[in-house]
Amino acid sequence: MSSQDDQGTTYDKREAFDPTFMSRPGTAFRTGSGAPGAMYWQNRADYKMDASIDTTKEEISGTVEITYTNNSPDELSYLWVQLDQNAFTSASRNHTTTPIGGNRFGNVEMIGGDSIHYISVTSSGGQTSTPSYNVTDTRMQIMLKTPLKAKGDKVTIKIAFSFRIPEDGADRMGITKTKLGKIYEIAQWYPRMEVYDDVQGWNTLPYLGAGEFYLDYGDFDYTISAPADMVVSGSGELQNPSEVLTSTEQDRLNKARNSDAKVYIITADEVGKSSTRPKDKGMLSWHFKMHNSRDVSWACSKVFVWDAARVDLPNDKKILAQSFYPVEVGADSGWGRSTEYLKGSIEFYSKTYFVFPWPVASNIAGRVNGMEYPGIIFCSWKAQTSRLFFVTTHEIGHNWFPMTVGSNERKYAWMDEGFNTFINIYSGLYFNKGEYGSVRDEAPRHLVGYMVRNEANGDPIMTFPDCIDARQLGTLAYDKPAVGLYILREYVLGHDRFDRAFNNYISRWAFKHPTPEDFFRSMNDASGEDLNWFWKGWFYKNWTLDQAVNDVSYPDADPTKGVNITISNNKQLVMPVTLEIKETNGHIGRVTLPVEIWQRGGKWTFHYASTSMIKSVVIDPDMMLPDVNADNNTWPAPLH
Ligand SMILES: [Zn+2]
Repeated sequence: MSSQDDQGTTYDKREAFDPTFMSRPGTAFRTGSGAPGAMYWQNRADYKMDASIDTTKEEISGTVEITYTNNSPDELSYLWVQLDQNAFTSASRNHTTTPIGGNRFGNVEMIGGDSIHYISVTSSGGQTSTPSYNVTDTRMQIMLKTPLKAKGDKVTIKIAFSFRIPEDGADRMGITKTKLGKIYEIAQWYPRMEVYDDVQGWNTLPYLGAGEFYLDYGDFDYTISAPADMVVSGSGELQNPSEVLTSTEQDRLNKARNSDAKVYIITADEVGKSSTRPKDKGMLSWHFKMHNSRDVSWACSKVFVWDAARVDLPNDKKILAQSFYPVEVGADSGWGRSTEYLKGSIEFYSKTYFVFPWPVASNIAGRVNGMEYPGIIFCSWKAQTSRLFFVTTHEIGHNWFPMTVGSNERKYAWMDEGFNTFINIYSGLYFNKGEYGSVRDEAPRHLVGYMVRNEANGDPIMTFPDCIDARQLGTLAYDKPAVGLYILREYVLGHDRFDRAFNNYISRWAFKHPTPEDFFRSMNDASGEDLNWFWKGWFYKNWTLDQAVNDVSYPDADPTKGVNITISNNKQLVMPVTLEIKETNGHIGRVTLPVEIWQRGGKWTFHYASTSMIKSVVIDPDMMLPDVNADNNTWPAPLH
């Protein structure tokens, strides 16, 4: 079609349907179809840790022994380790890039960061040496005397570390003061391996606050020593209940493992009583193990009410959900229902997407508004009823994205927040038959105001999290990608095709490291649609959509011979079309047109076999699209 068909629109069909988009061939590591390739590899980090908390100095100290396996085809002469606690120093990039007014993830406390007391490296040949190392902000480079050989060589790194616990840990960890005592939520707490991958080698972006984490998988075996009057909840399974729990508590915990309803391990009345602890002086060491995880976190307090219940997973698998919260938030409108929220969410995600892979899930109440770790989440102790449900179903949803599907959060916030917000839509509708409705208003037209305001200069979804205007992070990392997937499922592909492709992506990349392209290619391949027009317009550009009904005309001026209807695409984003057509004889019909009509240009005329005068034509009648100008969606034009 000639360009004059596009008159009155700014639409460019060659930009919307772009053969050069994502045209790089697949590799032996990542196939063109979006799957891990025949030569896909990833490195592995196994951790053994012993740490203790000093509640007087409010300090954590410990040792970590990392066994790092280099499965890559490359020899590595140095290693990179993450020291996230270094964000809490006055010279940190987190601090120096935080605006004067502060922000959610900017640190407010410069209390010293990580102290490294000792490092040794033991090669696979058994030689132990003290390596030279360099700390730059939140990263530490360890120089190896003997390079780590390709394809399976291992090295063991031992590090002794300590840090002061920040009270306000950038909303990811911290100390909460409750009536009866403090709650310690501890995360980003031990030196963690950076990821070396086939995409870019070492991933060494600094921890600035907004950008989250990227971690390799491995097994964790760790002990936390805490004052004996405290209860510790950690990622993974508690290994020594007989040493840290009373026999009454062990009995109650076993009862909870077989109970649909919550069972108290420690009731509100019992909190603080010496009868709840096997000893009341000195320290107790809590031993946890977690297999095939990318991280572990923990919390401890003497103020915890503790309840738990069984979670039913597919194939008769059963695990434990549990909640830890201070007495003052334990009412039935509040944290008294946390375990029910956790159980309902895990059961839904497990049967819908992928079976929860770990034996325990814990919800901790505290000052952290909402933060996710494998098998443990931190949710706001101030949250109640629907707010507590939504934060719980969201944070535990992260156990699918990115804890199971291990994407690079520091670069692509939408690959964890967006996917998670999308599955939260359905967990909200599922929980207790929709008691709280849907987690966010998923209706695409809610994005219209945002899209119009940001049409000229707004960031696309594909922007570094730390680069996104902080006021837009909620939309670009959470809502827009979630609504995009919602449109794909509910409007473009339909449930069957979407679900098969989406679940295929999850199972292909579970416990691996997908990139955005791996996701887009995977969806294209399994759904059988080239959706590049969608990925480009929705994720890489901030294009807007304006579909319009332009005109209605009767061939030979005879309404009984049908009607020619002209529609247009006035902006750069394209979508398939749905129209509702009402005739004066009472007949109501629907027409759907594929997105490919917009490959012909910005205007399209089609014939509709009506038999009487047309009363009205409405484009996007179910309001499934974020159409930025609804005024031109009806013919005849509405009266104003
Ligand atoms: Zn989140």
